Amino acid sequence: MKTGKIIKVAGPLIIAEGMEEANLFDVVKVSKMELIGEIIEMRGDKASIQVYEETSGIGVGDPVYSLGMPLSVELGPGLISKIYDGIQRPLDLIAEQAGDLLTRGISVPAIDKNIKWHFIPLVKKGDEVSGGDIIGYVQETVLIKHYIMIPHNVEGVIENITEGDFTVVEPVAEVKNKNNEKIKIQMLQTWPVRKPRPYKVKKNPTEPMLTGQRVIDTFFPVAKGGTACVPGPFGSGKTVVQHQLAKWADAEVIVYVGCGERGNEMTDVLLEFPELKDPKSGEPLMKRTILIANTSNMPVAAREASVYTGITLAEYFRDMGYSVALMADSTSRWAEAMREMSGRLEEMPGEEGYPAYLGTRISEFYERAGKVITSGKKDKEGSLTVIGAVSPPGGDLSDPVVQATLRVVKVFWSLSANLAYRRHFPAIDWLTSYTLYDNNIKQWLMKNVSNDWPEMKVKAMTILQKESELEEIVRLVGLDALSAENRLFMDTAKSIREDYLHQNAFHEIDTYTSSKKSYEMLSVILFFHDEAMNLVKADIPVKDIINLEVKEKIARMKYIDEKEINKIIEIKNEILEQMKILKDKYTI
Ligand code: ADP
Repeated sequence: MKTGKIIKVAGPLIIAEGMEEANLFDVVKVSKMELIGEIIEMRGDKASIQVYEETSGIGVGDPVYSLGMPLSVELGPGLISKIYDGIQRPLDLIAEQAGDLLTRGISVPAIDKNIKWHFIPLVKKGDEVSGGDIIGYVQETVLIKHYIMIPHNVEGVIENITEGDFTVVEPVAEVKNKNNEKIKIQMLQTWPVRKPRPYKVKKNPTEPMLTGQRVIDTFFPVAKGGTACVPGPFGSGKTVVQHQLAKWADAEVIVYVGCGERGNEMTDVLLEFPELKDPKSGEPLMKRTILIANTSNMPVAAREASVYTGITLAEYFRDMGYSVALMADSTSRWAEAMREMSGRLEEMPGEEGYPAYLGTRISEFYERAGKVITSGKKDKEGSLTVIGAVSPPGGDLSDPVVQATLRVVKVFWSLSANLAYRRHFPAIDWLTSYTLYDNNIKQWLMKNVSNDWPEMKVKAMTILQKESELEEIVRLVGLDALSAENRLFMDTAKSIREDYLHQNAFHEIDTYTSSKKSYEMLSVILFFHDEAMNLVKADIPVKDIINLEVKEKIARMKYIDEKEINKIIEIKNEILEQMKILKDKYTI
């Protein structure tokens, strides 16, 4: 191990000389305290090092040791349920070692090397395998089978493989390569976080990642393997949206990366997530979740590491064939860390002081999302969906981080402080949000929900847009100035908003809606609209139509159990009956 010497300390950035043997992005240990850092720039024998721990007390002349390898994560059984810091140190182990003191330079294993896992082979002697192929699994938690894969640099024939109890560093199999060398395969692997894990093919995402949240699934769906961005003005319901996604999204593994601004934001996540239940199994959600949290004793630079650590863990589970959702909150904090480091490196600043490479870094991050055919001899499909929260100062969407993000993500859920103030939840603004996956997933929706579902969504959205135009007129000349037809449009739009889009996350039934139920609900609302329009055209007073008793039922259909979907469909008959009575009254 080659040792350099510190020549400058500037907050989280230190510069060391005598580092000619080190490489860009190598991990280093700084001073006798062994603080972890990463080389982010090399000039001759001088290395600029981003330190992931507080640097007070570090001084010129202190030694720097290069570990000669890039910042990497450990991959293997033991990851699920863990709460890690940005450089994959389990928070509970740090706390155990440090007590309540903010001790630095703590070295704790990311994955326990002593636990024995029961390994069950899925291949046999003589099978051909290459990097990425699954050779067996351990039941990591009740919810997750942890598939053991051949490392990416290995190819050959299984020489032997045994069922049994092993630690992650004991060999579970042996592969003979083409040079007749026998390579022992252990469950533990490592991977450099800045390097995307390889796959065979990236496919066009064609399947929605359903979330059970009507406004998202209906109007602004994200595809499995897609990317989405959500800004979160304070109190707009961002936390509830994130929890709902973590619980209900059609993803098997959840990785949550928290770069909180204030200490208590992260504390909330650390307290709340472990309390959440996985609604489908009744088990704690943590049994299929990994949390990465920046602790308050880590400087901003660590946020950068946590984003890469998180996405690498997510890719690893994608490689097993899982559908994985990664949520990063907030990427603005990560960008601010980049800005700080760039400033200290005295780089030429771009917009608002962010480095010129801000856009590139952000797009490289989101590009790691995708639906892929994974590496290996045997094809398997996995997906990684990335949902990034942004928190621009003052909620200003022209902020460079938001703009750079919107250039790459395909879905924007525009959380609106105004809607939240009116207690319309989820406060996703239907007029400013968008998705670019509509065309990709149209076929899937027609096949799996209903042929006319895409068409119906367009119709409902058109009515909402019409409402916003009409609102302008109402503001100027009052509701009475509207034609009967337009009055009906206003009423239908209100019904779509209140009876359909509004969804109570805390109601036992309303918290989740299947696509089938969403379809029937929206179908009833639009059916009412069409039938009512016929009456309006026959000069029946619109006031009487929109006050029909059945409207009460429409307002309550969201509380009908999934199993009783027929009760929703039957509302259409009541609509016809009540409208007939009304019509008869006026035509006699
Ligand atoms: P933020 O994280 O943006 O500050 P929260 O997610 O904590 O906001 O939401 C603030 C409050 O809004 C919650 O405590 C809850 O009362 C209400 N709320 C948000 N979303 C919903 C929802 N889908 N259903 C019901 N109430 C909600």
